[in-house]
Amino acid sequence: LQDHLDDHAFSFSPNITLKKLPHLSDYLQDLQPAGPNPLDHNPFFHPSDGFYVNKSDIVLRQVACRLSPSETIASPSHHLAYIRAGPRKQIFFDHCATRAAIVTCGGLCPGMNTVIRELVVGLWDLYGVRQIYGIKAGYRGFYSIHPIELNPKMVHNWHRRGGTVLETSRGGFDLTKIVDAIENHGFNQVYIIGGDGTMRGAVKIFEEVRRRKLKVGVTGIPKTVDNDIGIIDRSFGFQTAVEMAEQAIHAAHVEAESAVNGIGLVKLMGRSTGHIALHATLSSRDVDCCLIPETEFYLEGKGGLLEFLEQRLKERGHAVVVVAEGAGQDLIPRTTAQKEERDESGNMVFLDVGAWLKTELKKWWDREHPHELFTVKYIDPTYMIRAVPANATDNLYCTLVAHSAIHGLMAGYTGFVTGPVNANHAYIPLADVAQAKNEVNIKDHKWEWVRSITNQPDFVKSKQNSV
Ligand code: ATP
Ligand code: MG
Repeated sequence: LQDHLDDHAFSFSPNITLKKLPHLSDYLQDLQPAGPNPLDHNPFFHPSDGFYVNKSDIVLRQVACRLSPSETIASPSHHLAYIRAGPRKQIFFDHCATRAAIVTCGGLCPGMNTVIRELVVGLWDLYGVRQIYGIKAGYRGFYSIHPIELNPKMVHNWHRRGGTVLETSRGGFDLTKIVDAIENHGFNQVYIIGGDGTMRGAVKIFEEVRRRKLKVGVTGIPKTVDNDIGIIDRSFGFQTAVEMAEQAIHAAHVEAESAVNGIGLVKLMGRSTGHIALHATLSSRDVDCCLIPETEFYLEGKGGLLEFLEQRLKERGHAVVVVAEGAGQDLIPRTTAQKEERDESGNMVFLDVGAWLKTELKKWWDREHPHELFTVKYIDPTYMIRAVPANATDNLYCTLVAHSAIHGLMAGYTGFVTGPVNANHAYIPLADVAQAKNEVNIKDHKWEWVRSITNQPDFVKSKQNSV
């Protein structure tokens, strides 16, 4: 078996640590390859020598690094590497015996339908799989709703539609019932599309499948509109979200400019990370202050938001504030019930920072300038952004990620996530991705860039100076 896995002998520099990927053969001793990849005979592909990926193809995690004086470019101290995604020469699933299940969980994200479509079309056209099923309504659908059969004709225009045709839900994660259902339905490939919570569930499914020694490949396809999942460069939907967010900022700017002392306030997605707010701020250039969860802000006093807006209105007559939904949560008063509140998946419920800010701004103006005109136009485009179909870039991403996931499972890998690492698609252990967070680094140049184009105060420094 080892011969089939090692395409040819190779060795890495001891400085490179290759992240080992689980393979079905790790726990299925009698497993044999099903044969050569059927793409060999696919009239559309004509695979050349360089078409297949083998085990010596890796993707380095770090491409930019600072070398210490003792290092040379040829021997940087340490590199983490992942196995490169793509089709393998040998596959471990016979197309007639493959039964694939696809499920979507968590919130909506542009591109979910494209991923489903590309999984169906890819399995069908690339590998000749005919038994492809959609699990309705998230994890709970495995054990509570009959799966629906999918084929290319049925999904042909799904990439034009927002949301998820398979439907999604939160909660309902019952590990035993889910894996029992996978066994009972005879699924041997499971494609799980969802956010951070979904990926943590996918790890548990993979581990239970392995414990039961089932020949079932499990892969996670991260869906995170706000880009909060680590290791991978980004997930699908993010670029679409930034594009839509920019439109909301533009509208807020028009409203603010057209009013006397007008403030345009836009709340954007981002519970734990401010990537959408940051990128939309940088691309729009109309934002005067960008507030994200990774760094604190305050309203009153020297160096606070109100003092800054006062100055801005005096100078320009208007201002635009962008706030990520997770920013300032500790500033908003919460009732005891609100402190305890959780959604069906157990996540803390966030209070509406936009609505709170709008009220606080109005109170401040009425107090300080009772006889002057003032307008706050609050735009919350969250549900509008989540529901749109993916843009061209995201659609392309969805295709690549779906096809990579198929190639990986067909090759017998399991318990992995596929996604771009430094722009090259790689296979990453699910458990690593489920733990990794992708936060905005407020110490790097991007955040400095935001501060330089907005001129907003450095709240952290101002607070320290005022103590
Ligand atoms: P998003 O936050 O982008 O909406 P998500 O995947 O994080 O997506 P959640 O509602 O948190 O959304 O989780 C989706 C599914 O994963 C739910 O069915 C939930 O029960 C399950 N889940 C969440 N966390 C875990 C966990 N730690 N273990 C097992 N299942 C989990
Ligand atoms: Mg989540």
